[in-house]
Amino acid sequence: MGNLAIFSSSGHFGITLSAFALFLACCFFAAENPRIRRGIWYLAAGLLAELFANLAETRAANVFAGGGNINFYILVELTLLLASMGLLALAGSRMLAGNISDTPVIAGIFGLGIFAIIFSVYIIPDGAVVNNMRSIFPLAGFTYVAISFWSQVRSKDAFGYLCSAVLTTVASIYWAWKLAHGEPTPESLWYLGAVFYALLGTSLLLIRGDNLKADLRKKDETIEKCNNKIEEIIKLSPFPIIISRLSDDKILLANNNAVKLFGIVAHELERYHLKDFFADAENRKTLNERLEQEKVVQEFEILVKTPNSDTPFWLLASANIIDYNYDVALYSAFQDITSRKNREVLLKNQAIRDPLTSIFNRRYFEEEVYKQILNLQRENRPYSVLMMDADHFKNVNDTYGHKIGDKVLIELASTAERALRDNDIVARYGGEEFVAFLPDTDAETAYKVADRLRETISEIIVHTEDNQNVKFTVSIGVSSDAVSENVDMLIKTADEAMYQAKQGGRNRVRIFTKNDLASFSDTERKEESANHHPIFDKEEASEISLLDIPEN
Ligand code: GH3
Ligand code: MG
Ligand code: MG
Repeated sequence: MGNLAIFSSSGHFGITLSAFALFLACCFFAAENPRIRRGIWYLAAGLLAELFANLAETRAANVFAGGGNINFYILVELTLLLASMGLLALAGSRMLAGNISDTPVIAGIFGLGIFAIIFSVYIIPDGAVVNNMRSIFPLAGFTYVAISFWSQVRSKDAFGYLCSAVLTTVASIYWAWKLAHGEPTPESLWYLGAVFYALLGTSLLLIRGDNLKADLRKKDETIEKCNNKIEEIIKLSPFPIIISRLSDDKILLANNNAVKLFGIVAHELERYHLKDFFADAENRKTLNERLEQEKVVQEFEILVKTPNSDTPFWLLASANIIDYNYDVALYSAFQDITSRKNREVLLKNQAIRDPLTSIFNRRYFEEEVYKQILNLQRENRPYSVLMMDADHFKNVNDTYGHKIGDKVLIELASTAERALRDNDIVARYGGEEFVAFLPDTDAETAYKVADRLRETISEIIVHTEDNQNVKFTVSIGVSSDAVSENVDMLIKTADEAMYQAKQGGRNRVRIFTKNDLASFSDTERKEESANHHPIFDKEEASEISLLDIPEN
């Protein structure tokens, strides 16, 4: 947007050059947009050519004042103006949506222009034509650029294009005015060029901003589409799925299956936190720790509680961290494994419990007591073992039948469990024999406990179907760490004491003391107890009660 007055003072020239430098800097940042990058650089080159054309015109005016030949300067000036027009036209075609091909534009304009210039400068020199060309070339160039900017204004984020369009239109009008009036711009308006460069530079930056905004909107739309797709897939999934925000654990999305499983009110999702459904806080902590380390956790068992169910149930969860609606979220899919878990518990119980009485079996007792003795020994704490056998139990079976015999055994087991402490271990050792391990209990205390138990059992009454009352007693043998630290030996010596109690008239308690060890022959008693243990009798005699058979 040249004005000859720019060159009349070095101050004006400096300001104009600074404004142009600023414009170039803006071009540099704005040109990051690949769609209009070349257009912008053509525009900058066109404006620079126009600025130099003004310089050539000034030089011509000076030479003319000195009486010299100015044809060459005019040739240079007009060629630069023509080049400027061509570059502006290219800039325009680049910025147009259709991206018009460069070659025909540039060839046509340049061919005609050069012919016109040489004709009016050298062949038939004509000052008026030269003057007109001085306005026509920039007018054509700026109009082209203005039209191309206007062509972009229709799109959504186009404030930058609008500013550029208005600015280049004003420039076109300026050149049209100049052409119509043939007058030079007043000297006082030297700053027009500087203002134009600064404003156009700013507008180009605005275009860049608009493009970034448009890109962002496009990305938003893509994200929304993705989320919609995710939601669609999640809703159709046969598994319960929940998406929860990682920062506050709030539930963002739950499919129908999850809503049903967790008893969630579907339209009040934000009210719920995922952690509320964990029955075991430790469980939740472990899951979080694993997620932090691995980002994806598969087949993680969690115990869940819901507002709808009193009993917690087991779920198999797979969870991973995802981006969802600008949040970092946890995607969790679940599978109800309650029945599998129950089966596992059942199997475990079958392995360690006696099917008739539901108390521990002999194998569990021996393993567990072995471990406990190691610990107690280390801390020098006492312990005792009780061996209890029903007196004349054969008579109960013979008189009232096996079913009542079983009922008596169940009653015996549950009474022993209730009478002893929680950390005592009670187990069914064999047919009608029970064994108990009492940690932190010396022989003397164990005797008292055993005697109290014996008494309690002697007061039990079991009713038969025809309303007969069945009463029974037990004999109990006690052994303790004072005798042995070995679980087998403790059982054997307690068994020996129990045998003594039988000998002594039954319904009584006997202690095995260290002194008894001298007369106690392990092998002899082992033989005897092999015959004596009803568990062996039972297997051989096939005395298996119906109640012995597990329900499933
Ligand atoms: P003692 O006072 O000497 O112990 O006499 P007892 O009759 O209790 O001893 P014995 O060893 O002669 O008999 C134990 C009986 O316990 C034999 C067996 O039929 C019965 N028994 C073992 N296991 C079961 C069971 O699971 N259910 C029932 N009903 N009876 C059982
Ligand atoms: Mg017995
Ligand atoms: Mg017995």
